Amino acid sequence: MRTPERADDSHPPRLACHRCGRELHPGRGDIYVVSILAVADPSPPVFTEDDLALDVEQEIQRLLAQMKDLDAQQAQDQVYRRMVFHLCKSCYSDWIIDPTGF
Ligand SMILES: [Zn+2]
Repeated sequence: MRTPERADDSHPPRLACHRCGRELHPGRGDIYVVSILAVADPSPPVFTEDDLALDVEQEIQRLLAQMKDLDAQQAQDQVYRRMVFHLCKSCYSDWIIDPTGF
């Protein structure tokens, strides 16, 4: 039995360049998929004598209070963030020259 098609199924979502908005066409070689992964410093923490002298319970309370106003997404974004976006050939050519340009 065939499931009824939803109106959206006959018109796949329009894919557009994240930078200029130009319509992109999968399979025609005019798309670049850019994937960015940002991870907070993965090195093990370094403790100083001053850190070791702190009251652990008080420090935990301080850190919990610091995170109190963050929702789960904000807390996650502080340690891990992955972004995927599409660029047209022209925007990719500009972007790749200086991908960290702010
Ligand atoms: Zn573009």
